[in-house]
Amino acid sequence: MPKFEYAPAPESRSIAGIKESYGLFIDGKFTDTVDGSMFKTISPATEEVLAEVTEAGPADVDRAVAAARKAYEQTWAGLPPAQRSKYLFRIARLIQERARELAVLESLDNGKPIRESRDVDIPLVAAHFFYYAGWADKLQYAGFGPAPKPLGIAGQVIPWNFPLLMLAWKIAPALACGNTVVLKPAETTPLTALTFAEICQQADLPPGVVNIVTGAGETGQALVTHPGIDKVAFTGSTEVGKEIARSCARLHRRHTLELGGKAANVVFEDAPIDQAVEGIVNGIFFNQGHVCCAGSRLLVQESVYDEVMTSLRRRLTTLRLGDPLDKNTDVGAINSAAQLARIRELSDVGEAEGAERWSPPCELPAKGFWFPPTVFTGVSQAHRIAREEIFGPVLSVLTFRTPAEAVEKANNTPYGLSAGVWTEKGSLILWMASRLRAGVVWANTFNRFDPASPFGGYKESGYGREGGRHGLEAYLDV
Ligand code: NAD
Repeated sequence: MPKFEYAPAPESRSIAGIKESYGLFIDGKFTDTVDGSMFKTISPATEEVLAEVTEAGPADVDRAVAAARKAYEQTWAGLPPAQRSKYLFRIARLIQERARELAVLESLDNGKPIRESRDVDIPLVAAHFFYYAGWADKLQYAGFGPAPKPLGIAGQVIPWNFPLLMLAWKIAPALACGNTVVLKPAETTPLTALTFAEICQQADLPPGVVNIVTGAGETGQALVTHPGIDKVAFTGSTEVGKEIARSCARLHRRHTLELGGKAANVVFEDAPIDQAVEGIVNGIFFNQGHVCCAGSRLLVQESVYDEVMTSLRRRLTTLRLGDPLDKNTDVGAINSAAQLARIRELSDVGEAEGAERWSPPCELPAKGFWFPPTVFTGVSQAHRIAREEIFGPVLSVLTFRTPAEAVEKANNTPYGLSAGVWTEKGSLILWMASRLRAGVVWANTFNRFDPASPFGGYKESGYGREGGRHGLEAYLDV
């Protein structure tokens, strides 16, 4: 099949205006560390150093928590709720105004295609702030009593896969409910959180309401165990989530956890196959598969297996992998060398355990961290690639004969974050949805997000919900 060639269409990076060095954002100002050090953040697509960032030490975390406490007690919790709405609306509008800059920055620091950061991440970030701005003065109607109170100071730790979006999921509901926050972005993707700090300044947000401390796991640990924190919100790996749950249990501290997933995407024989193939591709190759709710296990009804696999392989040969800033790119860079090593290791295990590996012909750039879209067939439920979260562009394909078998296989995982169902029959969708142990079930679509819709897991995918009215509960004393 002759391939359509695309001319390069790079987005200009000059709009990003990256500084050489970033301090910590504490009490409304950027400040130098008192007991930390500096580290570099790089572009995973080229390994070029983008900026120097602060690794906050315990004394820095202490200062940030103290600033959040002061702001909570002296301004934020006592503000008329409509005033809190005003600040959140301002932030949302500033995000829209600076959307192009934020999208470029996100793609540079994370490696995700600009098409995704521009059309998905940043619009959803603004939408979250608009949505929770609307709730701030209506909390008494949210179903949590006549005068729900905030919890106090939230310590929030987020991952690198959707850096600014995860920040929005954490900060918007916390502020709407009257809490103040100290947030730690992931060490490989701090730049949009630091730009968000500038947006807080631009919005005249009272000092200390939002504090951003950068750093790695140790900084995160200092934050979630700090005695001045009232509530912990974490998104990341199940392993670290369990550790945080243990600390919070010891400290009698409220916490919510958004952890990993191994979602089943179930295709029945009566599904519209072309649409299902688009959904499969979006389910696992969106954001290089760095998605906790990715449809990483494809379950196909046996009678349409050949048809689905032929269409899927054909579709995958048209994916364009490369420069994240090119507007034609579908698959960007893997976020870090460590994540690339994990994806390689688990893919090798898949082959060693007997599954068959396939990737479309695809040239990988010489520099940076890259992995081709990969499909494993002949996968059994016992294989590690069917059980463990790979968090990369790797799809494991299994088959089933009956709806009951599909449910059993889909639920055969320690996780329970999301699932997809593809069929023409509404009754079968409802039958499946009521049996799938997953926080979100998409029908004839996948990876759809909306601020009004709650998101969260069962089992080892964590507890608590983010988004929607449900998302308020995590930040109210109910
Ligand atoms: P991680 O859990 O190690 O890191 C997530 C965040 O927690 C980062 O900000 C990190 O600095 C911080 N952190 C690390 N150790 C900590 C500790 N002891 N106390 C407090 N904070 C700590 O995840 P990762 O290294 O970014 O990725 C590893 C795996 O996690 C991936 O392979 C994937 O399986 C999973 N993951 C899931 C999600 C999700 O959205 N569910 C997101 C990212 C990664």
